Amino acid sequence: MQDSVVPELHEVAPPMSWLRRWWRRQTPGRQDRFAMLAPLAAVMLFLAAIISAFWYLRLEEMDREQEAVRRDVEYAQQRVRLRLLERQEQLMRIARDIANKDVDPEEFVGRAETLVIQYPELQSLAWIDDRRRIKADYSAPSLPPQQQREAGDVLKPGETETTFLLVRDLQQPVYAQPAGGTELAPLLQLHVPLADQARFAGVILAEYSIDGLLRYGVPAEVSARYAVSLHDGKGRLLAGQTLPPRNTAGWLPSWVAPRTNEFEVPVTPVGNGLVLRGQAYRTSLGLVGSGLFWLVGTLSAMTAWMLIGNWRHTRRRVQAQQALIAETNFRRAMENSMLTGMRALDMQGRITYVNPAFCQMTGWSEPELVGRTAPFPYWPDADREQLNARLDDELNGRTTPGGFQVRVKRKDGSLFDARMYVSPLIDPKGHQTGWMTSMTDITEPNRIREQLSASYERFTTVLEALDASVSVAPLGSEELLFANKLYRLWFGLHTGGHLQMVAQAGVPDQPRTDESLDEVDSFVGLPTGQLTTAQSENAEIFVPELGKWLEVRSRYLNWVDGRLAQMVIATDITPRRHAEEQASAQAERAQAASRLVTMGEMASSVAHELNQPLTAINNYCNGMVSRIRGGQIREDDLLKALEKTAHQAQRAGQIIQRIRSFVRRSEPNRTEADVATMVGEAVELAEIELRRRNVRLSHYVAARLPKLLVDPILIEQVLVNLMKNAAEAIDHARRPPAQRSVELRAVPRQVDGQAVVEFTVLDTGKGLAPEVMDRLYEAFFSTKVEGMGIGLNLCRSIVESHQGRMQAENIYNGADIAGCRFSFWLPVSGAISSAANKDTGVVA
Ligand code: ADP
Repeated sequence: MQDSVVPELHEVAPPMSWLRRWWRRQTPGRQDRFAMLAPLAAVMLFLAAIISAFWYLRLEEMDREQEAVRRDVEYAQQRVRLRLLERQEQLMRIARDIANKDVDPEEFVGRAETLVIQYPELQSLAWIDDRRRIKADYSAPSLPPQQQREAGDVLKPGETETTFLLVRDLQQPVYAQPAGGTELAPLLQLHVPLADQARFAGVILAEYSIDGLLRYGVPAEVSARYAVSLHDGKGRLLAGQTLPPRNTAGWLPSWVAPRTNEFEVPVTPVGNGLVLRGQAYRTSLGLVGSGLFWLVGTLSAMTAWMLIGNWRHTRRRVQAQQALIAETNFRRAMENSMLTGMRALDMQGRITYVNPAFCQMTGWSEPELVGRTAPFPYWPDADREQLNARLDDELNGRTTPGGFQVRVKRKDGSLFDARMYVSPLIDPKGHQTGWMTSMTDITEPNRIREQLSASYERFTTVLEALDASVSVAPLGSEELLFANKLYRLWFGLHTGGHLQMVAQAGVPDQPRTDESLDEVDSFVGLPTGQLTTAQSENAEIFVPELGKWLEVRSRYLNWVDGRLAQMVIATDITPRRHAEEQASAQAERAQAASRLVTMGEMASSVAHELNQPLTAINNYCNGMVSRIRGGQIREDDLLKALEKTAHQAQRAGQIIQRIRSFVRRSEPNRTEADVATMVGEAVELAEIELRRRNVRLSHYVAARLPKLLVDPILIEQVLVNLMKNAAEAIDHARRPPAQRSVELRAVPRQVDGQAVVEFTVLDTGKGLAPEVMDRLYEAFFSTKVEGMGIGLNLCRSIVESHQGRMQAENIYNGADIAGCRFSFWLPVSGAISSAANKDTGVVA
């Protein structure tokens, strides 16, 4: 369509279409500027046109005036000239008459009188002969006496002499202006020569009043309009008046100011000596003209000023408009980009606006929503009543500041949760025009919240159901950050229990005291990160308030708010403690029983051992009885025999005592025991068995062994057991007498950098078969017919309860097994831990 218009325009009015195209090409800002500047330029052009027109008219008028002045002054000059010429004619006629001798001096005076009376400008007429004597004279009575002449007088030597001589030479009438005193009215003289038969015979001297010449020579209409004056050749005023120069104030530009319009012209017969000047009186035109000029000028200036003011105002408006447009665009962009749905309602509850986010959320387009009233299409049918009530509240201004949650139906029928906030819409006048509602889709936040709360629930359920008490408290504070159900059950909701456990378990906790408050960091220099990961303490404590044994584990952690906190997990281990105590009691009983069993096994050996002293006692007693009966005993022999008997009895008693002290059940009792003593006692007991089995026993105890912190009875039990097993092994192997030997050694050693004392029992039996080796320490495992199979098991328990270790190995002689070595070591400086005291770890 435009294509068809443009060529047409081009054809019809090419400049117009060019202008239009040029106009369209301009930016809006330039268009605005042009639109504003054009009127200003027009006003300026108008002002310039007015000024030039005014100026032109003024020039024209001045020209006209000048012309009129010239014409009128010329006219006046003509009249003055005419008048002078007429007088000159008349005088020349008188002169002719005088030459013709028609006039005598009397006649001359009469005719002069007539002339002076008739022509008032003529002041005097005098007939002067060639010797400058006044032959006749008539003066007007008004002539001052100084200027009057007497007939018969000779002219004063200087008076008109040059003119007189000039007239005599020229034989022509000559006008002259006598140089007279300034106080007198200036006069104009006319010398007309007289001839007497072509001889110079004097002059007729006529004197005009210049003032009169002006008054009577210049026509009245000219003198009414102009200030007419006569000046001499040097410009001196002779008669009449001149106007003062105008525009003295200088408040008008020179080209506008009315100049004095004047013209001057020399009066012809007189020549340059007399100049007629006419000055036009000032007409009202100058005033009117300048008034108009100023009016137009002021109006133009005001128009220009108003245009500039208007232009500035418009410019400010345009700026405001641009700012508004920018703001509107910004808000529109913001509205379009944000994810919050916006909906505006008018006061009647009609939708007046929805933003793209609202449309996108609900799936309804803007035209489908704008203009709708309740029920809105995005209301779920089920919630319609509730939403209607909600809308009523909203329209009545009962809004909830925190917003409210609603369900919203999408166009496809699906529902989502949204939170809506309502705020009033206020127009620029401060009136409320409706309500603005923002809507946020909270399905995702809801889902996350539900997930979070579910996970929190799981977390708390697990923690609550835990059969350990869990508590978290920040360091240096009484606050309890977290406590699970068991903690609350045991200690209530106070940190007391937490702190007590921390203190009892010996975990370094540094509660801030008042003195330490000024410390910046209570763990000065300590990297707390390491603290949280590294320091995890484990201790068993007894809490008297609960009557329970608790296993306390604690560790540092960074709490959710960044504070360093300590978590304490306490497990009730009272039942375990009970079981352990029972087990240790049982173990004790088992050890005692085992010792009894050992003795039971050794019963025949013991009996054999006891048999010797008892037999000796019997022999001694029988010997003494028969010798006393024979009466052949002396007192000395009897005494000797009794002493021997007592010694044997003592020996038997010693054996019994040793056995009794070995099998006596006693509380576990650790003392600083001497290795040599323990070895000695064990050897004494074992020898009973070894002797019966015909096995030699040799023992070696290293000198200056340190004392061991052990229960000596238990260590002796281990040694006796090992030696008895060794003797039995040798017996079973039926070794020849030369190979029947057992060796016991106690020597100091280093195991893993730790000082220990090692006990070794070396036999010459058949050693340990591989299947026996695997089950060696098993309880009730025995290869012997009469064996109980608990000996080695107990031995290992005893050694390990003393932080020692036990091992067995075969000794080879070539490919043959030449015997077996049982050894165990006990630490020298082993601190007795509480665990060592209680933990005998017997599996019954
Ligand atoms: P018991 O002596 O009552 O059989 P032990 O626990 O003392 O119970 O020994 C278990 C088994 O270990 C023995 O039956 C035996 O087979 C083997 N044994 C123990 N000591 C030796 C040893 N010095 N030489 C060979 N075998 C041994």
